[in-house]
Amino acid sequence: MEISFKSKRAVVTGAGKGIGRAAALALARGGAEVIAVTRTQADLDSLVSECPSIKPVCVDLSDWDATDVALKDLGPVDLLVNNAAVGILTPFLEVTPEQFDRLFNINVKGALHVAQIVAKGMKARGSGGSIVNVSSQASQRALKDHALYCATKGALDMLTRVMSLELGPYQIRVNSVNPTVVMTDMGRLGWSDQVKAKAMKDHIPMGKFAEVEDVVNSILFLLSDKSAMTNGVILPVDGGFLAS
Ligand code: NDP
Repeated sequence: MEISFKSKRAVVTGAGKGIGRAAALALARGGAEVIAVTRTQADLDSLVSECPSIKPVCVDLSDWDATDVALKDLGPVDLLVNNAAVGILTPFLEVTPEQFDRLFNINVKGALHVAQIVAKGMKARGSGGSIVNVSSQASQRALKDHALYCATKGALDMLTRVMSLELGPYQIRVNSVNPTVVMTDMGRLGWSDQVKAKAMKDHIPMGKFAEVEDVVNSILFLLSDKSAMTNGVILPVDGGFLAS
């Protein structure tokens, strides 16, 4: 299936590492003009040296006002990959208010804010658009020590559904991808332990974790016109974990 993003402008958050970085590079290879947003300048420097057409924006998306300033001259945007997130693993009984605020500020409030900025522009231009929120299998299954992470991704899934309801009339589609474990920096945080990893893989019918490319391909499909009538979908990329 040939997918082209020629003449499209795409914003990717959390584009410094992992899935976001690979999505930014894939979109640029597909012909999109890509704006890469993340908070570590060194990651943006290496991304731009790898792909000079990418426009870098350095901001901490947990800071609402700083995000407004950083994205005020964004210009027209057709596609958004709302990918930036963090994970903190803590037993439920030890969760602190600081951890709660940090995770919800980035994983939920930051995603909502960037989507608002982008969708307001899409609505004003009247040319529609596609937004993909990067969620997780953890939005729909309880995972030990993942209380906060699961709660943020559950919230993100409902945000996806409500956004699809409210933005659909403007031909702005909103969907999510919900991967199983991917061995990025974040994946290594929770799943480097071989015993834990095996226990998780045993619950995945395909018996393996996802590759970054698996997630990126699903993101590209949902961004593209090949999914032109798909709106409000929570798409597992999990080898069957959520079905089992
Ligand atoms: P990584 O930790 O590898 O990359 C996350 C990126 O987001 C980094 O570039 C990071 O920048 C950036 N980021 C984090 N917080 C902020 C912030 N406040 N402002 C700006 N940028 C920020 O994660 P993954 O690539 O693994 O994860 C990408 C998405 O996929 C996330 O939404 C995650 O929840 C989801 N996911 C991941 C899974 C996995 O197993 N890896 C499984 C299921 C879902 P910096 O490094 O500078 O903080």
